[in-house]
Amino acid sequence: VPAVIAAPSHITSAALLRSQFTGPLLRAGDPGYDQARRVWNGMFDRRPALIARCRCTADAAAAVRYATAAGLPVTVRGGGHNVAGTAVADGAVLIDLSLMRRVTVDAGRRLAHAEGGCLLGDLDAATAPHGLACPAGVVSHTGVGGLALGGGYGWLARRWGLTCDHIAGAEVVLADGSVVAAEDHPDLLWALRGGGGNFGIVTRFTLRLRPAGPVYRHVGMYPAQDAPAALAAYRDFAEAQPDDMHAVGALQRASAPWLPAALRDRPALFLTTVWLGDPAAGAQMTAPLLAAAPPAAQTAGVLSHLELQALGDHSEPHGHRYYTRSCYLAELTGEPAAELVRAAVENPSALSCIDFEYLGGAIAAGDPDSAFPRRDAPYICTASAHWTDRDRHRDATHIAWARGTVDRLARWQHGGNYVNYMQAEPAGKIAELYGATRYARLAAVKRRYDPDNVFRANQNIRPQISNDPSGVNQ
Ligand SMILES: Cc1cc2nc3c(=O)[nH]c(=O)nc-3n(C[C@H](O)[C@H](O)[C@H](O)COP(=O)(O)OP(=O)(O)OC[C@H]3O[C@@H](n4cnc5c(N)ncnc54)[C@H](O)[C@@H]3O)c2cc1C
Repeated sequence: VPAVIAAPSHITSAALLRSQFTGPLLRAGDPGYDQARRVWNGMFDRRPALIARCRCTADAAAAVRYATAAGLPVTVRGGGHNVAGTAVADGAVLIDLSLMRRVTVDAGRRLAHAEGGCLLGDLDAATAPHGLACPAGVVSHTGVGGLALGGGYGWLARRWGLTCDHIAGAEVVLADGSVVAAEDHPDLLWALRGGGGNFGIVTRFTLRLRPAGPVYRHVGMYPAQDAPAALAAYRDFAEAQPDDMHAVGALQRASAPWLPAALRDRPALFLTTVWLGDPAAGAQMTAPLLAAAPPAAQTAGVLSHLELQALGDHSEPHGHRYYTRSCYLAELTGEPAAELVRAAVENPSALSCIDFEYLGGAIAAGDPDSAFPRRDAPYICTASAHWTDRDRHRDATHIAWARGTVDRLARWQHGGNYVNYMQAEPAGKIAELYGATRYARLAAVKRRYDPDNVFRANQNIRPQISNDPSGVNQ
């Protein structure tokens, strides 16, 4: 593999690593170690052997060379938001990119160069002054790294496509410590657009940008008894919309401050529409949904792109306990809708939520041969169990609710899954998710760039395709 920086010799001792590494190197007992090993999901209390807090690409390369020479497993941290806690493992070298959050914008060419530890908010803050954005997720403290490499659904996705569709280039530290520009390696660039963190450490993304201005947003609330009819209206509305309309739903305990007191503290359906076209036309564009399903309470307004991106920031704070189960759905009304409402009524936590959204648009129109699978899935539905440390004795109850919610939708599932919403899964599940042809192609890229599976703390694509579905990732 031709490299931008050739792989220097192995770093065989911690002292040698210290002499080459510019950021903090933290071991148990060091100040900052306990803070640096924390990830967003409070379920994971893991203790790495070493936390290598990189300041630059050469640091990441040195840390990989040290870990492989020492025979230690490697984990990579971008924003630390993976629900399965893949960024951190007991006894591993945690290659932590969270000090690498610089973004530069080339407005003329509509490109952003974002370091591998950037959060979505870093990217938006840099691009918004130019009236530009890279389509990404809906919570601004999520990491660009994991989200972009695995896919990236968000408010702009129906209009412009997924985040991974916007990766124009990447600087990558490979398993042997060499550094390459993915632009020079079309197979690697292809795999980075949906294959997750399997192929190397992306220390800098080059991302294509799109125009992003103010949007019109409407939220309607429906008590549980009205939810089945509202879901039918939602289906008819969402499937008929132009790509500038994004309509999503959530079933959860009603607590929003704009709700009248009489409607609070009970299971409810919230339908949110975001109109990316002329904000002045937003109310008119939303009217057919409201006519078909008048909400019990509603709120609407025009938001800047930055306000839109920050809307979800407070609902899923760091350190709480989370478990997510997700599926693609072919159908949302009738029996599956009734199951969803039942699951919402049985939800054991005031913080947990069932989210769903109609996809289509530019997601479905994207390259069918890209590494990202299942572009044709009509709906994605995610049960996000969320509770606090005080309720940790009921972990099993919350996990069972999320699992049971998706299990009860089995008959209407489209097949496949979204790699970024998955827990630790048996190896066979990952192969099934990508499908045989795409998985074989990803495995070939993996063999070329990471034949020893150094980067395996992820939803793992194995270099050798095995028929044994019993292995569990991570
Ligand atoms: C609150 C919240 C909101 C979310 N919203 C959305 C959403 O709107 N849309 C959506 O599509 N997803 C969303 N997600 C899911 C999100 O895409 C995944 O959790 C993703 O893994 C987060 O990436 P991260 O860098 O923060 O995670 P980390 O835990 O840091 O990393 C996860 C894995 O990604 C890989 N990785 C991360 N950075 C790099 C890098 N620079 N180079 C190589 N590998 C890397 C590593 O394998 C690592 O194990 C959300 C998650 C949370 C917790």
